[in-house]
Amino acid sequence: MAVDRDAVIAWFAELQRVYAANRDRLTELDSAIGDADHGSNMDRGFSAVKTELDKNVSASIGAILKTAAATLIRTVGGASGPLYGTFFLRAAAVCPDRTELDAADLAAMFRAGIEGVVQRGKAGPQDKTMLDALLPALDSMASSLAAGAGIDLMFANAAAAAERGMQATIPMQARKGRASYLGPRSVGHQDPGATSSYLLIRAASEVWKTA
Ligand code: ADP
Ligand code: MG
Repeated sequence: MAVDRDAVIAWFAELQRVYAANRDRLTELDSAIGDADHGSNMDRGFSAVKTELDKNVSASIGAILKTAAATLIRTVGGASGPLYGTFFLRAAAVCPDRTELDAADLAAMFRAGIEGVVQRGKAGPQDKTMLDALLPALDSMASSLAAGAGIDLMFANAAAAAERGMQATIPMQARKGRASYLGPRSVGHQDPGATSSYLLIRAASEVWKTA
Protein backbone atom coordinates (compact mmCIF):
# COMPACT_ATOMS: atom_id res chain seq x y z
CA MET A 1 0.00 0.00 0.00
CA ALA A 2 2.13 2.88 -1.25
CA VAL A 3 2.40 5.64 -3.83
CA ASP A 4 5.52 5.19 -5.95
CA ARG A 5 7.03 7.54 -8.52
CA ASP A 6 4.87 6.13 -11.33
CA ALA A 7 1.77 6.87 -9.25
CA VAL A 8 2.96 10.46 -8.77
CA ILE A 9 3.55 10.77 -12.53
CA ALA A 10 0.04 9.35 -13.09
CA TRP A 11 -1.37 12.01 -10.75
CA PHE A 12 0.18 14.77 -12.87
CA ALA A 13 -1.10 13.14 -16.08
CA GLU A 14 -4.59 13.13 -14.54
CA LEU A 15 -4.21 16.78 -13.45
CA GLN A 16 -3.33 17.78 -16.99
CA ARG A 17 -6.46 16.03 -18.23
CA VAL A 18 -8.70 17.39 -15.44
CA TYR A 19 -7.62 21.03 -15.83
CA ALA A 20 -8.02 20.84 -19.62
CA ALA A 21 -11.52 19.40 -19.15
CA ASN A 22 -12.43 22.03 -16.51
CA ARG A 23 -10.78 24.99 -18.20
CA ASP A 24 -14.07 26.66 -19.21
CA ARG A 25 -15.71 25.99 -15.85
CA LEU A 26 -12.80 27.54 -13.91
CA THR A 27 -12.72 30.52 -16.25
CA GLU A 28 -16.45 31.01 -15.84
CA LEU A 29 -16.06 31.03 -12.03
CA ASP A 30 -13.15 33.49 -12.27
CA SER A 31 -15.10 35.75 -14.62
CA ALA A 32 -17.75 36.23 -11.91
CA ILE A 33 -15.35 37.37 -9.15
CA GLY A 34 -11.96 37.78 -10.84
CA ASP A 35 -10.37 38.36 -14.22
CA ALA A 36 -11.45 35.22 -16.09
CA ASP A 37 -8.01 33.61 -16.33
CA HIS A 38 -8.00 30.82 -13.74
CA GLY A 39 -9.02 28.14 -16.26
CA SER A 40 -6.33 29.12 -18.75
CA ASN A 41 -3.77 29.52 -15.94
CA MET A 42 -4.34 26.00 -14.61
CA ASP A 43 -4.58 24.39 -18.04
CA ARG A 44 -1.41 26.10 -19.28
CA GLY A 45 0.51 25.33 -16.09
CA PHE A 46 -0.35 21.65 -15.79
CA SER A 47 0.09 21.04 -19.53
CA ALA A 48 3.60 22.46 -19.17
CA VAL A 49 4.23 20.24 -16.12
CA LYS A 50 3.19 17.17 -18.13
CA THR A 51 5.52 18.19 -20.98
CA GLU A 52 8.44 18.67 -18.55
CA LEU A 53 7.81 15.34 -16.83
CA ASP A 54 7.64 13.56 -20.20
CA LYS A 55 11.07 15.02 -21.04
CA ASN A 56 12.92 14.18 -17.83
CA VAL A 57 12.67 10.82 -16.17
CA SER A 58 13.15 12.04 -12.61
CA ALA A 59 14.29 9.37 -10.23
CA SER A 60 12.74 10.51 -6.98
CA ILE A 61 9.30 11.75 -6.03
CA GLY A 62 10.94 14.88 -4.59
CA ALA A 63 12.52 15.67 -7.96
CA ILE A 64 9.17 15.22 -9.75
CA LEU A 65 7.42 17.58 -7.33
CA LYS A 66 10.22 20.12 -7.67
CA THR A 67 9.94 20.05 -11.46
CA ALA A 68 6.19 20.64 -11.11
CA ALA A 69 6.78 23.57 -8.74
CA ALA A 70 9.35 25.28 -10.95
CA THR A 71 7.20 24.80 -14.06
CA LEU A 72 4.07 26.22 -12.40
CA ILE A 73 5.97 29.24 -11.09
CA ARG A 74 7.39 29.84 -14.57
CA THR A 75 4.23 29.33 -16.63
CA VAL A 76 1.25 30.34 -14.47
CA GLY A 77 0.81 34.02 -13.80
CA GLY A 78 -1.47 35.57 -11.24
CA ALA A 79 -1.95 34.58 -7.64
CA SER A 80 -2.38 30.88 -8.22
CA GLY A 81 0.99 30.18 -9.94
CA PRO A 82 3.22 31.09 -7.00
CA LEU A 83 0.75 29.52 -4.55
CA TYR A 84 0.55 26.12 -6.29
CA GLY A 85 4.30 26.40 -6.98
CA THR A 86 4.91 26.84 -3.26
CA PHE A 87 2.60 23.91 -2.50
CA PHE A 88 4.66 21.51 -4.63
CA LEU A 89 8.02 22.97 -3.56
CA ARG A 90 7.22 22.47 0.14
CA ALA A 91 5.77 19.04 -0.58
CA ALA A 92 9.00 18.13 -2.37
CA ALA A 93 11.07 19.09 0.65
CA VAL A 94 9.30 16.44 2.73
CA CYS A 95 10.31 13.55 0.48
CA PRO A 96 13.59 14.53 -1.24
CA ASP A 97 15.01 11.12 -2.16
CA ARG A 98 11.98 8.91 -1.78
CA THR A 99 10.70 6.48 -4.37
CA GLU A 100 7.68 5.35 -2.34
CA LEU A 101 5.28 7.04 0.08
CA ASP A 102 2.83 5.54 2.58
CA ALA A 103 -0.30 7.21 4.00
CA ALA A 104 1.64 9.02 6.76
CA ASP A 105 4.22 10.30 4.25
CA LEU A 106 1.46 11.59 1.97
CA ALA A 107 -0.31 13.33 4.84
CA ALA A 108 2.99 14.97 5.84
CA MET A 109 3.59 16.01 2.25
CA PHE A 110 0.17 17.64 1.90
CA ARG A 111 0.57 19.30 5.31
CA ALA A 112 3.87 20.89 4.29
CA GLY A 113 2.44 22.00 0.95
CA ILE A 114 -0.72 23.53 2.42
CA GLU A 115 1.20 25.25 5.22
CA GLY A 116 3.37 26.74 2.48
CA VAL A 117 0.26 28.17 0.78
CA VAL A 118 -0.82 29.71 4.10
CA GLN A 119 2.59 31.33 4.62
CA ARG A 120 2.93 32.55 1.08
CA GLY A 121 -0.60 33.94 0.62
CA LYS A 122 -1.26 34.95 4.24
CA ALA A 123 -4.86 33.81 3.99
CA GLY A 124 -6.79 31.70 6.46
CA PRO A 125 -10.10 29.90 6.79
CA GLN A 126 -13.21 31.72 5.47
CA ASP A 127 -11.22 34.15 3.31
CA LYS A 128 -12.83 32.55 0.21
CA THR A 129 -9.65 31.13 -1.32
CA MET A 130 -8.19 27.77 -2.27
CA LEU A 131 -7.46 27.28 1.44
CA ASP A 132 -11.17 26.80 2.11
CA ALA A 133 -10.87 23.53 0.17
CA LEU A 134 -7.30 22.66 1.22
CA LEU A 135 -7.58 23.16 4.99
CA PRO A 136 -10.64 20.90 5.46
CA ALA A 137 -8.86 18.28 3.33
CA LEU A 138 -5.84 18.53 5.60
CA ASP A 139 -7.95 18.11 8.76
CA SER A 140 -9.64 15.14 7.17
CA MET A 141 -6.28 13.52 6.34
CA ALA A 142 -5.14 13.90 9.94
CA SER A 143 -8.34 12.22 11.20
CA SER A 144 -8.07 9.43 8.65
CA LEU A 145 -4.47 8.80 9.58
CA ALA A 146 -5.30 8.74 13.29
CA ALA A 147 -8.06 6.22 12.56
CA GLY A 148 -5.62 3.98 10.70
CA ALA A 149 -7.10 4.52 7.21
CA GLY A 150 -5.16 3.51 4.12
CA ILE A 151 -4.25 5.79 1.22
CA ASP A 152 -7.48 5.09 -0.70
CA LEU A 153 -9.85 5.95 2.15
CA MET A 154 -7.70 8.88 3.31
CA PHE A 155 -7.93 10.55 -0.12
CA ALA A 156 -11.59 9.65 -0.67
CA ASN A 157 -12.42 11.38 2.63
CA ALA A 158 -10.12 14.32 1.85
CA ALA A 159 -11.73 14.83 -1.56
CA ALA A 160 -15.19 14.84 0.06
CA ALA A 161 -13.99 17.37 2.66
CA ALA A 162 -12.45 19.56 -0.06
CA GLU A 163 -15.69 19.41 -2.04
CA ARG A 164 -17.73 20.56 0.96
CA GLY A 165 -15.16 23.30 1.61
CA MET A 166 -15.38 24.42 -2.01
CA GLN A 167 -19.19 24.60 -1.84
CA ALA A 168 -18.95 26.52 1.43
CA THR A 169 -17.11 29.35 -0.36
CA ILE A 170 -20.34 30.35 -2.18
CA PRO A 171 -21.84 32.44 0.67
CA MET A 172 -18.45 33.82 1.80
CA GLN A 173 -17.24 37.36 1.17
CA ALA A 174 -13.68 37.32 -0.19
CA ARG A 175 -11.03 38.81 2.07
CA LYS A 176 -7.96 37.89 0.01
CA GLY A 177 -6.96 38.06 -3.64
CA ARG A 178 -8.59 39.80 -6.55
CA ALA A 179 -12.14 38.80 -5.49
CA SER A 180 -11.75 40.83 -2.28
CA TYR A 181 -11.85 44.03 -4.38
CA LEU A 182 -15.53 43.26 -5.01
CA GLY A 183 -16.41 43.37 -1.31
CA PRO A 184 -19.98 42.16 -0.72
CA ARG A 185 -20.41 41.52 -4.46
CA SER A 186 -18.13 38.50 -4.11
CA VAL A 187 -20.88 36.76 -2.11
CA GLY A 188 -22.93 34.13 -3.95
CA HIS A 189 -20.14 32.79 -6.18
CA GLN A 190 -17.98 29.70 -5.78
CA ASP A 191 -14.28 30.49 -5.50
CA PRO A 192 -12.29 29.40 -8.57
CA GLY A 193 -9.15 28.53 -6.59
CA ALA A 194 -11.11 26.43 -4.09
CA THR A 195 -12.53 24.60 -7.10
CA SER A 196 -9.11 23.90 -8.65
CA SER A 197 -7.84 22.74 -5.24
CA TYR A 198 -10.76 20.33 -4.87
CA LEU A 199 -9.92 18.98 -8.34
CA LEU A 200 -6.28 18.53 -7.27
CA ILE A 201 -7.27 16.34 -4.33
CA ARG A 202 -10.00 14.51 -6.18
CA ALA A 203 -7.48 13.60 -8.90
CA ALA A 204 -5.18 12.11 -6.24
CA SER A 205 -8.07 10.07 -4.85
CA GLU A 206 -8.99 8.80 -8.33
CA VAL A 207 -5.45 7.88 -9.32
CA TRP A 208 -4.35 6.42 -5.96
CA LYS A 209 -7.52 4.38 -5.36
CA THR A 210 -5.62 1.13 -5.57
CA ALA A 211 -2.34 2.37 -4.04
P1 ADP B 1 -5.44 35.97 -10.21
O1 ADP B 1 -6.41 36.20 -9.08
O2 ADP B 1 -4.15 36.67 -9.99
O3 ADP B 1 -6.06 36.23 -11.55
P2 ADP B 1 -5.98 33.14 -10.55
O4 ADP B 1 -7.23 33.60 -11.22
O5 ADP B 1 -5.18 32.13 -11.29
O6 ADP B 1 -5.06 34.39 -10.17
O7 ADP B 1 -6.33 32.51 -9.13
C1 ADP B 1 -7.36 33.03 -8.34
C2 ADP B 1 -7.50 32.19 -7.08
O8 ADP B 1 -6.33 32.30 -6.28
C3 ADP B 1 -8.63 32.63 -6.19
O9 ADP B 1 -9.86 32.06 -6.58
C4 ADP B 1 -8.19 32.18 -4.81
O10 ADP B 1 -8.68 30.87 -4.52
C5 ADP B 1 -6.69 32.08 -4.93
N1 ADP B 1 -6.03 33.09 -4.10
C6 ADP B 1 -5.91 34.40 -4.34
N2 ADP B 1 -5.21 35.02 -3.36
C7 ADP B 1 -4.91 34.05 -2.45
C8 ADP B 1 -4.20 34.03 -1.19
N3 ADP B 1 -3.66 35.13 -0.68
N4 ADP B 1 -4.09 32.83 -0.56
C9 ADP B 1 -4.63 31.70 -1.08
N5 ADP B 1 -5.29 31.68 -2.25
C10 ADP B 1 -5.44 32.82 -2.92
MG1 MG C 1 -7.78 35.29 -12.17
